[in-house]
Amino acid sequence: MNVFKFGGASLKTSAAVRNMTGIVKNHKQKPLVVVVSAMGKTTNALEHVVSLYRQGLSFQKELTELKTYHINLANELFTEKTIHQKIEDLFDRLVEQLTPGPDDQVYDQVVSFGEIISSVIVCDFLMQEGVACAWKDARQYILTDDCFREGKVNWEATRKNIQSLIPELENKIILTQGFIGGTAGGHTTTLGREGSDYTAAIFASCLDADSVTIWKDVPGVMSADPKRIPDAVVFHELPYKEAAEMTYYGASVIHPKTIKPLALKGIPLLVKSFDNPDLPGTRIHECHVEKLPPLIVFKENQCLVSCRVTDYTFINEQQLSLLFQAISELDIKINVMQNSAISFSFCIDYRESKLVALLEKLRHHFEVYYNTGLVLITVKNYDSQTFETYRKQKNLLLEQSSRSTLQVLVKP
Ligand code: ASP
Ligand code: MG
Repeated sequence: MNVFKFGGASLKTSAAVRNMTGIVKNHKQKPLVVVVSAMGKTTNALEHVVSLYRQGLSFQKELTELKTYHINLANELFTEKTIHQKIEDLFDRLVEQLTPGPDDQVYDQVVSFGEIISSVIVCDFLMQEGVACAWKDARQYILTDDCFREGKVNWEATRKNIQSLIPELENKIILTQGFIGGTAGGHTTTLGREGSDYTAAIFASCLDADSVTIWKDVPGVMSADPKRIPDAVVFHELPYKEAAEMTYYGASVIHPKTIKPLALKGIPLLVKSFDNPDLPGTRIHECHVEKLPPLIVFKENQCLVSCRVTDYTFINEQQLSLLFQAISELDIKINVMQNSAISFSFCIDYRESKLVALLEKLRHHFEVYYNTGLVLITVKNYDSQTFETYRKQKNLLLEQSSRSTLQVLVKP
């Protein structure tokens, strides 16, 4: 049994959907679960709709554009036009979710439609192409708590739900949505942006799959973003631990939560090119690689917060504990930190509302400064050349290195 995940880029046009259908047809001899994301940039567009709604602004134009995008794509795929009514109905239901309520909850009810619509189109197309396929609503299988936008999986219930699919997998492909889950109370949750990879890992773990394949617009996991660094190379294989650390530093090729459930069960994760499915791609599994080339990760939109003590004392453990308490209460993740005699500095992903709340908490105890618009560059497994190059970056605000990893925070 295998699990395939197709992301937004591999479904963004009718040609891409045909291509994915070809890949599925070539692999359907074995039982297969297919997890799909929203098409193209749909999730971003839906986030924008939610934000307009929240500000009391009109979102009609954006929504119409999004519906037209899906209908046009469907027009190029289907001979029968029954799909139109389905798309119309789904957009009607989406609009019904734009009602007053807690921000994150409303966000999940609306943004999840990207995956629902995509999966309906893909399932109907697979069936038109003669692939036996069962559409499943992931919200009825992946059970989460009600931590909206960051749903935490109830593994026991989820495992039971997903295992109920085993008999059906004998003669059909199971097609479901990435990124979304459901609460016991029937609300939709999302698992964090780019969370479809995680969905694939959840299904694979619960079904004891032989492998998970993530089909991407790159030839595999690369040593850097090839758009930034043209001579980046593809890793042929990577240990789980290495891959997990990469995602921690911000490598966006795989969602950070994906590795753990797979590593725990020893299920290999393959990252392959959907444009060149015959290329080997990257195999992430239990292995030992003698010498990995340096891996370079750029994490954008960073914010550096510096807290200074004001009363001629030094930063002490009590103050540090106060700082960590505030940071953890707001569910903020520190990407890198450093302290000196009188100040403690840390770098976080910039999110305005979180930053405002944090400053509010810290202001009573410290003099607080911050910089935004920064880039955190991590060089893992550096060599002397990469070490020198990245330390000599202009506008360097913070630098930190260990025996294997260099991190620099720069203002571009
Ligand atoms: N569609 C969601 C997102 O763009 C989930 C995913 O693509 O993995 O964040
Ligand atoms: Mg995506």
